[in-house]
Amino acid sequence: MSEIKNSDIKVVGAPAGYEGPGFFATQLDKVVGMARKNSLWPLPFATSCCGIEFMSTMSSTYDLGRFGAERLSFSPRQADLLMVMGTIAKKMGPVLRHVYEQMAEPRWVLSMGACASSGGIFDSYPVLQGIDKIMPVDVYIPGCPPRPEQVLDGILRIQELVQNESLRRRSSPEYKALLASYGIE
Ligand code: SF4
Repeated sequence: MSEIKNSDIKVVGAPAGYEGPGFFATQLDKVVGMARKNSLWPLPFATSCCGIEFMSTMSSTYDLGRFGAERLSFSPRQADLLMVMGTIAKKMGPVLRHVYEQMAEPRWVLSMGACASSGGIFDSYPVLQGIDKIMPVDVYIPGCPPRPEQVLDGILRIQELVQNESLRRRSSPEYKALLASYGIE
């Protein structure tokens, strides 16, 4: 077994800014973005086989904890990333929507796999043909099921969005209009 050296351990880099003896100055947006990016609290809404693939992503081989997102939340009020994985029946739609609405802003949505993103192979009347019919989605992960590497890639893309999001976005007229288009106030 190889020995882990201190030089192998990487810490999150500070955002760009100005520094001198005893001080460091940067923008508030950047500090908040850095903190949010590296401490996502996902809520796994798993209804079928994609959920099993997510369990694999959480396990030691792939270890989602390396990205600061290992603290899963099964309470919408203590989560900022909704991960939808699996087939969503139309009867389940209002439940999923209720979970989304209970999450506080800022919140992000990751749609994992063909079923959550488009209904997948279940092109039939009881299945919701994509969760974007009931809520805005930030990142889609393709596949049936996606491999854990793809899930990690999806998380990295969410992290990119989180890091670069303006603190004002959630109160912007564009964002309010987006929610209004889903009937969410
Ligand atoms: S996308 Fe494929 S693996 Fe994922 S829930 Fe649907 S059928 Fe299962």
